[in-house]
Amino acid sequence: MMSRHLVGRLLAGLLTVVVTAGAAGCGADDAALPDYQVPADPPRPVGMRDPAVVPSSAPNASESCNPRASLRPSGALPPPRQMPPRTAMARIVQRGRLVVGVDQNSYQFGFRDPLTGELTGFDIDIAREIARSLFGDPDKIQFRAISSADRIKVVKDGTVDMVVRTMTMNCERWREVSFSTEYFTAGQRILVTRSSGIESIAQLRGKKVCAADGSTSIRNIAEAGTIPVSVVNWTDCLVLLQQNQVVAVSTDDSILAGLAAQDPNTQVVGPRFSDEPYGIAIAKTSPELVRFVNAVLEKIRSDGTWTRLYNRWLRSLGPAPAPPKAQYRD
Ligand code: GLU
Repeated sequence: MMSRHLVGRLLAGLLTVVVTAGAAGCGADDAALPDYQVPADPPRPVGMRDPAVVPSSAPNASESCNPRASLRPSGALPPPRQMPPRTAMARIVQRGRLVVGVDQNSYQFGFRDPLTGELTGFDIDIAREIARSLFGDPDKIQFRAISSADRIKVVKDGTVDMVVRTMTMNCERWREVSFSTEYFTAGQRILVTRSSGIESIAQLRGKKVCAADGSTSIRNIAEAGTIPVSVVNWTDCLVLLQQNQVVAVSTDDSILAGLAAQDPNTQVVGPRFSDEPYGIAIAKTSPELVRFVNAVLEKIRSDGTWTRLYNRWLRSLGPAPAPPKAQYRD
């Protein structure tokens, strides 16, 4: 419970904000407002690490694989609720709902609609298509909001049936979990304030740049010579940028587009400097579920659903491209 003292302080803080905003609204000249100064002891989002702990490359990380190649569907999709016995799909139908790990902090991919309180976005709708194929009902689904750093753990320990959360497929992760075929292609770029004058990652050498802990983005910005600062959620990066605690946020262009839409004072700049193919992560112990999900993805690529979902959520990224082509390893 919040102490009365703390509530009092919060209210006082709120009043100060309202009074200041009121004064600014009464004809004050915006241009005359002083630049925001970082306080000596700025508020730090829970879990922030400055500098970030940069994961070293796992042993054999250089071992080559094609991270886009997944398991081939084993035929046409079975009718909803009629799953082959003794499969992960049959167990999910028996349970009555699909359990999926998602983001609730990435606008346009996985976020909470403030009007309805519902989780929505491209990743959320992709997950609903899988529930639709299992149950004939996209609502037979339970979402678990997870951080970037928790994705592999919740798949491996069975907390969720799968993770649909802006997750890059790479050889290192393939050793821990299996992935579906690619359902979206992203690439890493940078987000800066419009007045920063920064146009490329090269200008960020020796400067603080924010990314989420457990993301591929952290290692990429460390390799580019920046000082990585890590947080739990992507929106925490936006707050750190707004407070001048970092000079940029860097991750997939898809996620940055959502942050830029939330703060028109920021913009995405520079070219892509990484390849981030998104896949749905599934436990290595359920290859039949990987094949089933790939059959669902085949269906939604070819029947126009993928394009409809892209146009529903991702128009800010430009016109819908063709869906990524499926690649198989068997
Ligand atoms: N696609 C990158 C990754 O899987 C960054 C996205 C994220 O962490 O949410 O690590």
